[in-house]
Amino acid sequence: MSFEVINDVAKPIISGFGITWKRLKREKVTVQYPEERREQFARTRWRHVLTRYDNGLERCIGCSLCAGACPARCIYVQAAENTDEERYSPGERYSERYEINMLRCIFCGYCQEACPTGAIVLRKDFELANYDRGDFVYTKEMLLEPIRR
Ligand code: SF4
Ligand code: SF4
Repeated sequence: MSFEVINDVAKPIISGFGITWKRLKREKVTVQYPEERREQFARTRWRHVLTRYDNGLERCIGCSLCAGACPARCIYVQAAENTDEERYSPGERYSERYEINMLRCIFCGYCQEACPTGAIVLRKDFELANYDRGDFVYTKEMLLEPIRR
């Protein structure tokens, strides 16, 4: 066998087995999901949530900066005016309609970065599977966090 053949064929195989051998000596980790869950990294970004202030008002002011920043163009915001009788957010406007098409989302977090009020945030809920494509369009009602009592 020539030196080139050893170099091109045998060496990568031996080196591959070497990596496998090193891995075999490591502690095995089996997580019994869904009964057990791994601790996620602090900056994990999964499902979006529209947050509220402590007094229950919505943080979202319908400015659409999140939609403008989204590279996948998956956010739709329709703003409306608050009135003294019907107030949803502290600002002049609020989002009457807010939707995210989760099939297009790439979880980059740009929407969260762009939001001036900290309204849209990506949290750690990663169980997003569904049966119907239509169910992946998350509406404001699905995204808005409940009022804390
Ligand atoms: S995480 Fe990225 S892709 Fe997903 S909605 Fe936000 S900006 Fe768009
Ligand atoms: S989530 Fe933030 S950036 Fe998006 S419309 Fe509401 S306030 Fe503006």
